[in-house]
Amino acid sequence: MKVANDTVVTFHYQLKDEQGAEIESSAGREPTAVLIGHRNIMPALEEAMQGKAMGDKFSVTLPPEKAYGLRRPESLQRVSLKHVLTKGKITAGMAIAINTEHGSRNVTAVKVGKFNVDIDTNHPLADKTITFDVAIVDIRAASAEETAHGHAHGVGGHHH
Ligand code: ZN
Repeated sequence: MKVANDTVVTFHYQLKDEQGAEIESSAGREPTAVLIGHRNIMPALEEAMQGKAMGDKFSVTLPPEKAYGLRRPESLQRVSLKHVLTKGKITAGMAIAINTEHGSRNVTAVKVGKFNVDIDTNHPLADKTITFDVAIVDIRAASAEETAHGHAHGVGGHHH
């Protein structure tokens, strides 16, 4: 069986930055299971997976436009320190959690003042070219329930 829409692909991956340093990896964990054709992962990564077979290993390098997007300058904001959920001293460059009307959100502290902190709400990987090293562990046809839900069930997938 080959990777195609409405198949569930189980895979291991390593995500690396432009210098080849590891950002994230599934090594030592259950492989990830994804239902293909339902926008569960980045379209460019899904496209690279199409037609691959069990045991295949491949790398795909994605420019920021196809990964986490470009940095938006309007994402710089000033918030009161009383909205910061992270405990202890905050310094520039730190990843902090802030309280918003939509709940807790992870941002980057840019400049810390006495009463306010300037934050950057861009994704930490915005503007970055990233590479996925992927190893396909298993491919199976999706169940009718998975196709209806739009995601994979079972090991490595959702549990509902
Ligand atoms: Zn479900």
